[in-house]
Amino acid sequence: MSIPNVTLNNGVQMPALGFGVFQTPPEQTITAVGAALSTGYRHIDTAAAYGNEREVGEAVRRSGLARDEVFLETKVWITDYGYDETLHAFDKSAGKLGVEQIDLLILHQALPGEFELTTQAYKALEKLLADGRVRAIGVSNFMPGHLDRLFARTEIVPAVNQIEVHPYFRQPEVLQYDSANGILNQAWSPIGGITFYRDGSEGSTLEDPVIRGIASAHGRTPAQVMLRWHLQQGRQAIPKSVTPSRITENFDVFGFELTTEELAAIDALDTGVRGGPEPAAITRENFGAEIPEA
Ligand code: NDP
Repeated sequence: MSIPNVTLNNGVQMPALGFGVFQTPPEQTITAVGAALSTGYRHIDTAAAYGNEREVGEAVRRSGLARDEVFLETKVWITDYGYDETLHAFDKSAGKLGVEQIDLLILHQALPGEFELTTQAYKALEKLLADGRVRAIGVSNFMPGHLDRLFARTEIVPAVNQIEVHPYFRQPEVLQYDSANGILNQAWSPIGGITFYRDGSEGSTLEDPVIRGIASAHGRTPAQVMLRWHLQQGRQAIPKSVTPSRITENFDVFGFELTTEELAAIDALDTGVRGGPEPAAITRENFGAEIPEA
């Protein structure tokens, strides 16, 4: 099946559903990405900080697909922020991926306490875009206040903001702010990131009775229902799996439709409790792993 596209704010087309590789160990990445590409995924989301860019690139080459058939997204880590540093971070990521051009390069986090560095990093993305080294630029985990500060100092509105969105944590005010500014919402942990979200005491979105009820009404799985919820609300989503059956299952989400009532019932599950790190608390002291040169 060929996958529908969404159009970014600079006209670049991006598949409506992607494949994530956070916490996919390098030794499993070639197989997992290979399975995803065989299934029909055409967008892979990695990051310098995931330590598997090299294997993502290798999987794409082994797939036999042409370079322009696969949309590659990666992220600059906070230890590489600053104008020259971020230009160099592009070279590191492109080198590991084995590509000349990256489709979408984003800043992984804002550094609220060192926003000038964040701004300089974004200015480097703007330069890479102007030079044709990347086709689109964006951000991740930026809250509206961070975007306001960025807008005040830079020229190009980010194409995407990749943030935590799943039924238990929706961030409606961020979604609204992004949409109002022409920024595509990209949902990370789109099915509840069961390895990442919660301590288990309240269960995972995959076990949620409301989601299970909707799934059984459609003869679908909870993961498929959550992915459909993202797509119908205009978000791009990047589910991760190393399990072949789940990789296939998560891609098979274009043949059914949730009702307005079902979408609202899923919206109502929001707890307001974040699974991932608090964006206001990101510092290089706490999260400052260095990204190797090669
Ligand atoms: P997901 O919501 O994609 O959930 C992944 C987990 O769910 C894995 O444990 C996976 O297990 C399991 N799973 C996948 N499919 C199914 C299914 N159909 N049924 C049951 N379980 C399933 O969470 P992630 O946190 O991985 O987020 C997805 C992607 O978002 C990441 O890979 C990364 O690309 C991005 N991300 C970005 C962040 C950022 O700060 N920008 C932060 C976190 C994620 P298994 O693999 O064993 O099959």
